[in-house]
Amino acid sequence: MNKSQLQQHDREHLLHPFTDFHDLGNQGTRVITSAEGAYINDIDGHQMLDGMSGLWCCNLGYSRREISEAIYEQLNKLPFYNSFFQCTTVPSIELADMLADVTPAGMNNVFFTGSGSEANDTNLRIIRRYWDLKEQPEKRIVISRKNGYHGSTIGGASLGGMSGMHKQFQALDYIEHIQQPYWFGEGGDMSPEEFGVHAARCLDEKIQELGPDKVAAFIAEPIQGAGGVIIPPETYWPEIKKILDQYDILLVMDEVIFGFGRTGEWFGADYYGMQPDLMTFAKAVTNGYFPLGGTMVSDRVADVIKSKGGEFTHGYTYSAHPAACMAGIATINILRDEKIIENVRDNTGPYLAKRWAELAEHPIVGEARSLGLVGALELVKDKGSRARFDDKCTAGAVCRDMSIKNGLVMRATGDTMIIAPPLILTTEQIDELVEKAHRALDDTARAMA
Ligand SMILES: *Cc1c(COP(=O)(O)O)cnc(C)c1O
Repeated sequence: MNKSQLQQHDREHLLHPFTDFHDLGNQGTRVITSAEGAYINDIDGHQMLDGMSGLWCCNLGYSRREISEAIYEQLNKLPFYNSFFQCTTVPSIELADMLADVTPAGMNNVFFTGSGSEANDTNLRIIRRYWDLKEQPEKRIVISRKNGYHGSTIGGASLGGMSGMHKQFQALDYIEHIQQPYWFGEGGDMSPEEFGVHAARCLDEKIQELGPDKVAAFIAEPIQGAGGVIIPPETYWPEIKKILDQYDILLVMDEVIFGFGRTGEWFGADYYGMQPDLMTFAKAVTNGYFPLGGTMVSDRVADVIKSKGGEFTHGYTYSAHPAACMAGIATINILRDEKIIENVRDNTGPYLAKRWAELAEHPIVGEARSLGLVGALELVKDKGSRARFDDKCTAGAVCRDMSIKNGLVMRATGDTMIIAPPLILTTEQIDELVEKAHRALDDTARAMA
């Protein structure tokens, strides 16, 4: 099939995730056909620096044969076996071991799933099981944040706080949402430090309002990813920690994006010095090469659910899929052996921070923030008042298209442009990324004038 035939069949038969089917039908899809290193190629032969690591997955880029070969060898040896009914497989044990090793101290058990959404559903099941076994069944409510993203199953979407999603399904009734720590958008006249404390105190207020004996857990991404790379002010997590220490409430950190090196530490919890009770992972655990997710379970929780009798009536056919586990093992080996994460912490992260900050000088950029290898740009019409161009987020959509035209994949979340490039980026490639982003901003300014 040629390009237009592919687009036509796509239109006729494929329903895409998070897509306006009507718009897509008019425009036609971009057909991505191959990739090397940090670059992807479309069917027209247009090459783009992948500023989003696929969908926050391909932290090592696209050319790691160690991972594809590990999958292939496993598929030939034992393509599938389940972990139900007292069975296990060698790759699942080895990966569980490695995960216990690379995750924060005190997290020594893993429950495997096929995706991040499933892992957050698993978290809901574990939280309930934990409090039931502790004979505190009145602890049922899970507190989450507005504009957080925790996946797209009913459980994941209920935990998430995206208003556009909530309009299209019936959320679970035991989940409550509090304010997000989004200083640029919601900080008003407060300094970032003041606002960080303020946003954290919202958790305390909510706990007081609901009653601490009713609250089972608090879930949050260390930094909101899909919500627009919202890096909380430095005062936020220490204040959250103080609040959680006061009450007997579980902390779930959703590390689906920030796990496996994005901040320059293995996990966001390491970066912020937090000790979560449960930790969701997916995406980069296999470098995107094979679907795999899971939740790390702390000793505090595991000791309870493992020591008391009775079956945990939960699991997925593909929990601990052996080929997925081999992909995870190969990925962690590369991250370790090549000191990829240390390089982000010591070299490329600080370099991106310096270069990315220069974009704040651009006339349509209200803020340029970054941490490790993620970044965001707030597009504004007026820097002083932070006023946007319009309320339809036109600037973001235009900038995304301009970015692609200039050979860089950036994503638009409303009028916030975000990047999360592969962790293997060199400083030269960071220069290329920043220059292409700059050109995209120039083109956007011209188009919006
Ligand atoms: C992507 C994502 C999920 C959902 O993972 P899927 O594999 O798409 O189900 C959950 N949490 C966060 C923070 C994510 O970014």
